[in-house]
Amino acid sequence: MKVVYSPYHILHDPPKEFISNHIENYGESPFRAELIFEALMDLPGIEVIRPVEFSIDHLLKVHSEEYIKYLETAYDDWIEAGLWSEGVLPEFFALGRIRQNSPGKSPVGKAGYYMTDSCTMIVKGTWEAVRHSAYTALTGAQNLLNGDAVVFSLCRPPGHHAGYDYSGGYCFLNNATIAARYLIDVGSATTFSQKKVAILDIDFHHGNGTQDVVQRQENILFVSIHGDPDYNYPYLTGSVAENSEKNINYPLPSGTTDKEYESVFQLAVTDIIKFGVDYLIVSLGVDTFEFDQLGDFKLTSPEYSRLSEILITELEIPILVIMEGGYNTDYLAANVLSFLRPFMPDPA
Ligand SMILES: [Zn+2]
Repeated sequence: MKVVYSPYHILHDPPKEFISNHIENYGESPFRAELIFEALMDLPGIEVIRPVEFSIDHLLKVHSEEYIKYLETAYDDWIEAGLWSEGVLPEFFALGRIRQNSPGKSPVGKAGYYMTDSCTMIVKGTWEAVRHSAYTALTGAQNLLNGDAVVFSLCRPPGHHAGYDYSGGYCFLNNATIAARYLIDVGSATTFSQKKVAILDIDFHHGNGTQDVVQRQENILFVSIHGDPDYNYPYLTGSVAENSEKNINYPLPSGTTDKEYESVFQLAVTDIIKFGVDYLIVSLGVDTFEFDQLGDFKLTSPEYSRLSEILITELEIPILVIMEGGYNTDYLAANVLSFLRPFMPDPA
């Protein structure tokens, strides 16, 4: 199994975030990806590859040009204006009618326009890191089109809270939809048949950014299983009221167990089979784990293997696994490994 990994992620290392009404060390740290990478690199059957660089056009298929330009220039503009040197964090938020106006000229105004929360900071190396995180997803998609049955794109920063023109929830570029668009466009062009992709989001938090992007796209189904947004980030999206032909949300209550989760997971797989897709992208978050500090489900480590076994048994299509969340660093690598192990050939 190929694992795509870029060392550029370490350039995105914000010092802190404002969460739950206090300032904390940044939860989405470089240490997360390093732990997973170190646990994987020595395993038999793992081939680590570096992402190749792609044209920015692939990012522009799912994000607005103005937003991409913002990510590229936000830190330098912020520093040039003499603002807080540690990084870009909004001090107000452009809600409703305010957001219908232009982002304006001030770096403070722009931060409030393009950023949706106070836990997702832009620092000096953020653009380099997020660009390479997207390339990590795209390289995974490219290898899938070249015939791999499964690829793990160890993306960092994650992507599923990044929308068409906004960041949030530690996410800046929506890696899953960027990869989906690539699979559809390049896959359809090379085989002369229309391809369809499903994104199955099993992070604890609703993939609001992915949902936002998928609304604007064709031939992508988005299915998300997540903590009830009435009590969890991102709070305002993820209910069944948002369900449509190409968007299916499964909000679940606090304390959801392995067995309860698995029965809903089966429903999600049935949705994907019904839609009829050529490729599956899994937005893998392991913050559904019983001891994760940002989630309150009760999944155990072996359950992640059972979930991937269901995918292997019921969907005979190529699978791209993209890393999203998971914050208990004592168990993070073990849980990711548990999910990936069924995809690995048995050691001879
Ligand atoms: Zn999450």
